[in-house]
Amino acid sequence: MKITFLGTGTSTGVPEIGCQCNVCTSDDRRDWRMRTSVLVETESKQILLDCGPDFRWQMIRNKIYNLDAVLISHEHYDHVGGLDDLRPFCATKGIDIYAEDYVAKAIETRIPYAFRPHKYPGIPNLELHHVTTEPFMVAGVRVIPIRVMHACLSIFGYRIGKMAYLTDLKTLPEEEYSKLEDLDVLIIDALREKSHPSHESVGEALANIERIRPKNAWLIHMSHRIGLHADVERELPPNVHLSYDGLTLTC
Ligand SMILES: [Zn+2]
Ligand SMILES: [Zn+2]
Ligand SMILES: [Zn+2]
Repeated sequence: MKITFLGTGTSTGVPEIGCQCNVCTSDDRRDWRMRTSVLVETESKQILLDCGPDFRWQMIRNKIYNLDAVLISHEHYDHVGGLDDLRPFCATKGIDIYAEDYVAKAIETRIPYAFRPHKYPGIPNLELHHVTTEPFMVAGVRVIPIRVMHACLSIFGYRIGKMAYLTDLKTLPEEEYSKLEDLDVLIIDALREKSHPSHESVGEALANIERIRPKNAWLIHMSHRIGLHADVERELPPNVHLSYDGLTLTC
């Protein structure tokens, strides 16, 4: 399985509009972060995790020519803002979108023209599937939903094989830890050093990583306030890394 980090930034992206801090003006391209999204590729299938407002450029930049399905973590704009841009991937057949009930409803409200009974040519042909806490199959691949608390908002992370993607995480319900055993790759939210009401800080992410004990963990959803990539990476434990846009892994 191949994993590509298409975007690793928080909801504003980095650089943040109007900011001239040392991260937003850095020459190190690892400091430039599009909104968070990850591509999982098996031998024959390509599954997208979240579809934010940078989706179009993420497809072009990474030369991605096919998608089989999209898993959505929650309805915040930075995770669904690119859904209309799925059009080139569903010109001939619908594309399967997986989201829980309230997120599916939010998507239908956001782009109602895609779900009207009489569709006009050229609209995105999205097939919405409702996810529950039960594992399900996507394009022949088994997916385990992981309940994640984004402050008081219940959202989903997803486990596929030995990889888990937990974005926009503040806390994990106790019963979810058993679904995260024996991971090779844990992709987990770490917004910045300082505490935040709805995202883990780097310290909170490290505590969760220590408890989950994956072989390797990769931090995502970073704000410019986390500091320079090179400085932060140096301070992390050997099996924990700051991800960056364009990074690929196999697991
Ligand atoms: Zn987010
Ligand atoms: Zn900045
Ligand atoms: Zn969010």
